[in-house]
Amino acid sequence: MSGCIFCAIIAKDAPSWTVYEDEHAIAFMDINPATDGHVLVVPRRHVKDLWEIGERDAGQVMEASVRVAAMIKRALEPDGMNILHATGAVAFQTVFHFHLHLVPRTRGDSIKLPWIPRPGEPSRIAAVAERITATG
Ligand code: AMP
Ligand code: ZN
Repeated sequence: MSGCIFCAIIAKDAPSWTVYEDEHAIAFMDINPATDGHVLVVPRRHVKDLWEIGERDAGQVMEASVRVAAMIKRALEPDGMNILHATGAVAFQTVFHFHLHLVPRTRGDSIKLPWIPRPGEPSRIAAVAERITATG
């Protein structure tokens, strides 16, 4: 899609440090890394977000992500890893071409959980679960 930086990277019209490519997905270094080895995995097809991607493309991106996560593990030997995704500006999405962030983690690094875990009210959890289940 014209104007999309990730489509430009996929087309090799914009520079990137690409670390993995297959028929359906490509992975390149994030230029604002949260930690060393922060990689973005994206579908070649331009889709905006989790609500647009569809199960088949999402599966292909996840397969590529598992492969790239193994590559990062072999290369950098992190203690752990987060997969992060943002759908919508409200959820911190800034590039509107679907992507998964692979963020290698090291014990004692500065990354924090973005919410404070607190027990929910069981009746509220159950009511919301019922609303979600009803749409399935
Ligand atoms: P998000 O906020 O989840 O939409 O993440 C978008 C990510 O894309 C950010 O972490 C940016 O640092 C990253 N990013 C933006 N432009 C580029 C680029 N040209 N090459 C690599 N990463 C990029
Ligand atoms: Zn795009």
